Amino acid sequence: MNNSNRLRIAIQKGGRLSKDCQELLKQLGIKLNLREQRLIAHSTNMPIDVLRVRDDDIPGLVMEGVCDLGIVGENVLVEVQAERLRQGIPSEVTKLSKLDFGYCRLALAWPQELGKQDKSWFEGKRIATTYPEILKQYLKREGINASTVMLTGSVEVAPRAGLADAICDLVSTGATLEANGLMQGDTILESNACLIQNKDLQDTDKLALINKLMPRLRGVRQAKE
Ligand code: ATP
Ligand code: ZN
Repeated sequence: MNNSNRLRIAIQKGGRLSKDCQELLKQLGIKLNLREQRLIAHSTNMPIDVLRVRDDDIPGLVMEGVCDLGIVGENVLVEVQAERLRQGIPSEVTKLSKLDFGYCRLALAWPQELGKQDKSWFEGKRIATTYPEILKQYLKREGINASTVMLTGSVEVAPRAGLADAICDLVSTGATLEANGLMQGDTILESNACLIQNKDLQDTDKLALINKLMPRLRGVRQAKE
């Protein structure tokens, strides 16, 4: 548990969500000295510390109560939740809000030269992905017998490298798939960044601070509409 009396928020240190997270914290009126390349940034105007970590670690940090809040892609949240559920360790969080950035979709793709294919093509194939749990749930739902190959990066080169027949990867514009000669198929998950809270948080001061920040968050989201 986070025993500090400062509200601890986990955000991605360096990556696609970092800039938007920093911008959001600023819009919420949280002043941070982010010039420091440190793991923890202390707010200068509120009892808040921001922990900057890899996005994959954010759900676990919030589920374990090491951090009170976290901002993470739903794709990572759903994958970590399924993985932890399988391991029988705490996997619940309170989802406070969907956010207006980090949109992407998890989609299937295969070599373009094979042309259009339907679901039955995947039978017996190997699919490379960073999201094996989400993919397995989809395959089960669709009744497809295919194996998953876990890769944490460069998923899009897996078919060319002979590591897999197809991939299941995050797409936003589709440019990366095209550049790698891949054709996009079904979307299996649509994702945005979201704000999550430890589900057992009881500290009244921290809850009061969150209650103060939430209307501001709603205001920021409405202003964008
Ligand atoms: P880390 O070093 O923190 O593990 P990463 O390489 O796993 O970073 P990023 O590529 O920075 O992750 O992506 C972070 C999140 O941004 C993704 O999990 C997803 O929610 C979101 N995202 C939005 N668009 C895309 C996209 N086109 N490709 C990948 N992720 C995207
Ligand atoms: Zn990551």
